[in-house]
Amino acid sequence: MSFTANCPICDAAIHLAADTIQGELLECPECGTELEVMSTEPIQLQEAPQEEEDWGE
Ligand SMILES: [Zn+2]
Repeated sequence: MSFTANCPICDAAIHLAADTIQGELLECPECGTELEVMSTEPIQLQEAPQEEEDWGE
């Protein structure tokens, strides 16, 4: 069993492992944005806050 969620940035479908936990960080395969799992039931993704990594663009 796995979850599917949509990237809040580009709306791409993202497949999440069944053992995904709240607070987990992942990267959108489409736009590369780092996303944080805000909740697992239902799945909610949010763009992860930029903290120490500031690589620019
Ligand atoms: Zn995306």
